[in-house]
Amino acid sequence: MTMPMDQNHQQHQEAWSRGTQVVANYNFEGSSPDDLPFKKGDVLTIVQPTKDPNWYKGKNESGKEGMVPATYVQKRKEVHLQAMPWYHGKISREEAEALLNDFREEGDFLVRDSVHFQGDYTLSIYFEGMVDHYRIIAKHNKLEVDGGDCLFDNLIQLVEHYQNDADGLCTKLIRALPKKGDSFGAVRIQDFEAGGWVIQKKDLQEIELIGRGEFGDVYKGLYKNQFVAVKQLKDQDRAAQAFLKEASVMTSLRHPNLVQLIGVVLGDTIRLVTEFMGKGNLVEYLRSRGRSVIQKKDQIDFATDTCAAMEYLESKKLVHRDLAARNILINENNTAKVSDFGLAKYGDYSTEGGKFPIKWTAPEALKNNNFSNKSDMWSYGILLWELYSFGRVPYPRIPLADVVMHVEKGYRMEAPEGCPKQIYSLMLRAWNLNPAERPTFKEALQELQNLRSTTV
Ligand code: ADP
Ligand code: MG
Repeated sequence: MTMPMDQNHQQHQEAWSRGTQVVANYNFEGSSPDDLPFKKGDVLTIVQPTKDPNWYKGKNESGKEGMVPATYVQKRKEVHLQAMPWYHGKISREEAEALLNDFREEGDFLVRDSVHFQGDYTLSIYFEGMVDHYRIIAKHNKLEVDGGDCLFDNLIQLVEHYQNDADGLCTKLIRALPKKGDSFGAVRIQDFEAGGWVIQKKDLQEIELIGRGEFGDVYKGLYKNQFVAVKQLKDQDRAAQAFLKEASVMTSLRHPNLVQLIGVVLGDTIRLVTEFMGKGNLVEYLRSRGRSVIQKKDQIDFATDTCAAMEYLESKKLVHRDLAARNILINENNTAKVSDFGLAKYGDYSTEGGKFPIKWTAPEALKNNNFSNKSDMWSYGILLWELYSFGRVPYPRIPLADVVMHVEKGYRMEAPEGCPKQIYSLMLRAWNLNPAERPTFKEALQELQNLRSTTV
């Protein structure tokens, strides 16, 4: 075991504990049989530190263990949203002026959505007793102030730039006028690089189209000898932030029943690379196999897998908000995993006036935007109904517009044919109008595990 010498390698400082994920910055061939060879971009898991702070015992993705030189790898970091307190979303020019005229200090500013150019923004600045408005144009995944000559990846970069230098504006940006209440967040692309999540396009081979998502097409691909799913963003300008937010949520999650993020490809087309789930989504799986193939045991397994992932999200106070059988994926080993964190949020969330899947969403979430782990539990109840009815659409005979009304009057779906009574009891408790009376995922998981142990 000899310490690799290279001027470029940074000094290793913090200690890594067991289970830490690291990503290789360089190839390492190893010089002794104890060493674990790896390639740039490989993800390794720390097994244990050694007496020498520059060496760790590590494990690669196929489970092989060996010595890893710390200076060849970096810890994988979570990517978090950066706050944008000055971003006010959809407010009018008049509202912006009223807000800034209340403030009245040179260089006070805010950013809002453009009223006339969908997808663009407006920078409003108070200067010499007036409010000036600058159009921010979004194109090819970049932003620029109309007439300026700098391109930015996102609003945060843009604002930072004009805080340092007026660069053609009436004044440099001095004081942000904060949005009241919930503020928006944004993802900085460079945080994915710093966190070790970036995959080079040349290392990724696309094989075939396997699905179509809201943001773009999903391909089966090959990355480092493993099959992966590649979600490719189609409308770069509009959806990049939403897409990157989904990826940033995924950087903080690791659970055997959550579809794992492998990395992101940056550049002209943003791609999100996740583990490949060979049997596709649960609804299609249920519908195509049906009662003849899918056994009681499979159903309770899928229900438990999903519940285990949800219990993990509940423990992290993360709310999924789009839990449904179509967002559960099945792999070749028949393990079910929760995917699709496009709407997921931490903490308290409020109005964004989004479109929600009505038949899956709890009444208080639909009406008051009151999403919580308890509203996820309501959706989980619907998911159980889908699972035991082999992929039927919920509330089969009720028009979409009437569902909420019926539910509030007390209507509940009947048990699907052959559904175990314990499962139907769980559904009914998940559909309690009072969120506090619904079970937690932790409680539900306990019940399901008990039921699973007696299901053959
Ligand atoms: P969106 O939620 O943006 O509409 P999804 O992530 O649900 O998109 O993907 C759309 C479809 O692509 C899924 O229903 C599934 O059939 C397929 N798909 C998505 N991710 C994977 C994956 N990791 N492995 C296999 N198939 C996938
Ligand atoms: Mg989906």
